[in-house]
Amino acid sequence: MRLRDETRVIPIVARVLAVLAYFGVAIGLIAIAIPQSRDTSMLPKGGQIALGLFAATIPAIYVLLLGYIHGDARRRRMRHIVWTLLAIFIPNLIGVILYFILRDPMPVFCPSCGAAVKSTYAFCPQCAAALRPTCPQCKRPVEHTWSHCPNCGAVTLMAKQAAATTAAPQPL
Ligand SMILES: [Zn+2]
Ligand SMILES: [Zn+2]
Repeated sequence: MRLRDETRVIPIVARVLAVLAYFGVAIGLIAIAIPQSRDTSMLPKGGQIALGLFAATIPAIYVLLLGYIHGDARRRRMRHIVWTLLAIFIPNLIGVILYFILRDPMPVFCPSCGAAVKSTYAFCPQCAAALRPTCPQCKRPVEHTWSHCPNCGAVTLMAKQAAATTAAPQPL
């Protein structure tokens, strides 16, 4: 998962908005806010421009981050509009942080029909192909290493196979 591949999910609209935000904020800061503020107006002109160019990266990075959440949530088959709005409207970046804590794992592809499906699914919703081992009794997904189903307690097929292998008569 290289950074180059990850940035590809950022929609073009977000990239354009980030550039506009950068120049809009930089010009506003350098032309108006920095010369008028008592704290920064005594800086030399070069320092004022450098400060404005640096400070303007913050809103631009924020816009790119929102674009990334939109594209990444869509790629993970999550509610990408809802998550983008939460990231925008929950203050202090808490929506952004929540997204990265709660995001779903990347979808996997059905080996039978190629549809993108959630990695937690036991069967493909498009073609019903089995995607993971399931409990023989309740059909919920189980892990390869589990001997019993966590949902109904039934012995899994893997455990039955392991028992059959160990119970086989040993050569004398
Ligand atoms: Zn399928
Ligand atoms: Zn079960």
